[in-house]
Amino acid sequence: MGCLSERYLKELSIEIPQVDKFYGKFDWKNLLQDLGKSYDERLHIERVLTTPAHYAYLKISEGCNRTCAYCAIPIITGHHISRPMEEILDEVRYLVSQGVKEFQVIAQELTYYGIDLYKKQMLPDLIERMADIPGVEWIRLHYAYPAHFPEKLIKVIRERPNVCKYLDIALQHISDNVLAQMQRHVTKAETYHLIRKLREEIPDIHIRTTLMVGFPSETEEDFEELKKFVREIRFDRMGAFAYSEEEGTYSAQHYIDNIPQEVKEKRLDELMAIQTQISAELGKSKIGKQLKVIIDRIEGDYYIGRSEFDSPEVDPEVLIERNENLQLQIGHFYPVKIVSAEDFDLYGNVVLENS
Ligand code: SF4
Repeated sequence: MGCLSERYLKELSIEIPQVDKFYGKFDWKNLLQDLGKSYDERLHIERVLTTPAHYAYLKISEGCNRTCAYCAIPIITGHHISRPMEEILDEVRYLVSQGVKEFQVIAQELTYYGIDLYKKQMLPDLIERMADIPGVEWIRLHYAYPAHFPEKLIKVIRERPNVCKYLDIALQHISDNVLAQMQRHVTKAETYHLIRKLREEIPDIHIRTTLMVGFPSETEEDFEELKKFVREIRFDRMGAFAYSEEEGTYSAQHYIDNIPQEVKEKRLDELMAIQTQISAELGKSKIGKQLKVIIDRIEGDYYIGRSEFDSPEVDPEVLIERNENLQLQIGHFYPVKIVSAEDFDLYGNVVLENS
């Protein structure tokens, strides 16, 4: 069940006959029917969490109306469909009643939220209304798009204490040539302007981005621009990947995948090496600071937690050494002073109230 079987149902059925049945991405009603059960609309916001009980991913829309040349997501998931705001808020209230404190708000393209349903960008309003719900401690935004970025969102992130000073915004590239070929509808100047504005208006914001190397016809000059961008902006978090052609996309139909694989990999390594150095420096700059940390789990000799600047699974964690005098609870927040930074993660000590 999922994207792959949604797109390649016939092919998979032929190639893997041992599988009884494949289901598409949104085919849960048929799945339930085949299991002798039925779907009850009245329970639509109730969920079984597959994350630790204190955080949840909250999907606010499906699909995407952008037309990025390399991307197969609109082909797989279709047009952008926003969930009604009241339904999302009901789900948040339900999850809070189940003990969820932290919400990772996700969508293929967050900033488009509401345009289909309410005829305007409604992400800032949704986040404000979520922030008003008692028990919502952290709201984190994943996958914003840089063009037509809603100004009001900057104010909401800045002013609401339970909205994490964190933004995951996929930028993909910085060279105007590549951005135009990618059909990203944003320029280099606009991208620099947005990032600087976010940093100026939201002190301490941590920005995560994703970049792509080896897009068709990316020249050495384009790549040099990208490296310069990464060095200048010093992203708090950055992921990168090498272009690979996706069947049915605009790129696959109109461009030649003409950057040799070894060049793509070399560029990827170079870019990541720059970021590794930056990440290490940014990690060290946190030594001595006190952060509010939520404990996710216990692993060996450590409690493993995160600050508001860290999303689960993808970002650095804060490790706190266990000892018999320290009893921390999973899903609770503690003030933690950072004492060292290694490779990716931070190490800290809980600041005891009377110390
Ligand atoms: S890259 Fe993101 S914004 Fe662009 S089409 Fe794909 S999902 Fe939409």
